[in-house]
Amino acid sequence: MKLNELTIKQAYEGLTKGEFTAVELAKACLAEIKKRNQALNAVLTICEEEALAEAKAADKRIKAGTAKELTGIPYLAKDNYLTKGVRTTAASKILANYIAPYDATVIKKLRQAGAVLLGKTNLDEFAHGSSTENSAFGPTKNPHDLTRVPGGSSGGSAAAVAANFCIFALGTDTGGSIRHPAAFCGVVGLKPTYGRASRFGIIAMTSSTDAPGPIAKTVADAAMVQAVISGRDQNDFTTADVPAVDYEKEMGKNIKGVKVGVPHEYFLAGMNKAVEDKVKEAIESLRQKGAEIINISLPHTKSALPVYYIITPSEVSSNLGRYDGIRYPLPSDPAVLRDGAGTPNPSSRNTAGRGETADLMELYKKNRALFGAEAKRRIMLGTYALSAGYYDAYYLQAQKVRTIIIEEFEAAFKEVDVIITPTTPDIAFKFGANKDPLKMYLEDIFTLSSSLAGLPAISVPCGIVDKMPVGCQIIGRKFEEGMVMRVAGRFA
Ligand code: GLN
Repeated sequence: MKLNELTIKQAYEGLTKGEFTAVELAKACLAEIKKRNQALNAVLTICEEEALAEAKAADKRIKAGTAKELTGIPYLAKDNYLTKGVRTTAASKILANYIAPYDATVIKKLRQAGAVLLGKTNLDEFAHGSSTENSAFGPTKNPHDLTRVPGGSSGGSAAAVAANFCIFALGTDTGGSIRHPAAFCGVVGLKPTYGRASRFGIIAMTSSTDAPGPIAKTVADAAMVQAVISGRDQNDFTTADVPAVDYEKEMGKNIKGVKVGVPHEYFLAGMNKAVEDKVKEAIESLRQKGAEIINISLPHTKSALPVYYIITPSEVSSNLGRYDGIRYPLPSDPAVLRDGAGTPNPSSRNTAGRGETADLMELYKKNRALFGAEAKRRIMLGTYALSAGYYDAYYLQAQKVRTIIIEEFEAAFKEVDVIITPTTPDIAFKFGANKDPLKMYLEDIFTLSSSLAGLPAISVPCGIVDKMPVGCQIIGRKFEEGMVMRVAGRFA
């Protein structure tokens, strides 16, 4: 087995036993990226120098006997996490040369643990999408079939893990963006409870559902990363002060008597029958391992899509307001370009083509034209839904239905411990197959409800259909990631 193919657990063992060094491990991953990234376009920025320096430091820590589980483990972060001194683009032209002045809390925690950041992965611009086709830097290809999408929006991270570019990766999930690409690429993706891990330093999409989480090769690996990145953060007051889960202990328990709910609303007429069969086989395997399977109903599942597509654009239209051509250095800004890969010169603010513009409207027009079509669509939809006269009819109404969705889950979780569903209605589609935005929105039909309710949910591989991976989703009660892992651990 090549070093870059290892899981976190295997790599940790090898590192602490002295079988190889963190530098060798990082080099193996970097070599794989260089060999195959041109074909896959999963990685937007490689930070080789910094990575090798971090790996060296990790080796010292390992020798000194102060290593933690992630010390020396190479990873990639979705390009919407701020990384100090390293370009952060959100796959948008508007941030093409943006170099973050500080680390996101999650990145900081991983740095403290000694994990090695190799670079940044591709995504749909500002995390809007389900295929990475919305990236301003070209789509990522699915490593299982280069003619198919990797899913999205964390498609670069999922493809990178599947292609063994790294040992694990970070994604963000607002309506399915960790689980969806994990399912399409045959890897594990965990969206934790909203508020379990800090959103500080992550480029905001929909602040009321954004959740950072791991994409990994096994459930145990995802659990390990989650344990490190979680916790209360003074910089994000939506983070909760709940004790960390002892994932190892939870995953060691069997599933005898665990109540698994199967909502019939997630087995739709139009979905791929072979995908449905794989998920049903997964349910059967849980029954054989001692779980109690219970049929349940979540009638407002059908409302999740319209509710999400009112709430998300509303929050997006507000969050994207800050890219006004004044507050962030722009690709067209010579003062920024002058610094090359270094830190942008702060004195470049309000200069270089900005101060010269007398008309504010012209300035906005010039700069906001850099948004891609999907971002523009969401800004317009959100501005409309929030405007006077429409706010009550759309936004407020959507929030009310969101409450019903939350209550339905709460009622279901009085009866069952977890809920199992397919992650996606079909296998990865071909590039260009979902040109109609509405069709693309339907991709997340099974992941949106749990996002709106802020619940933890994981996607684990559960079989192959037409040579492509299929994922099943396990949803849990708030902050019960332990139970989710315990059930998911039976699969990967
Ligand atoms: N595909 C969904 C959307 O486009 C979810 C995105 C996400 O979770 N970031 O909104």
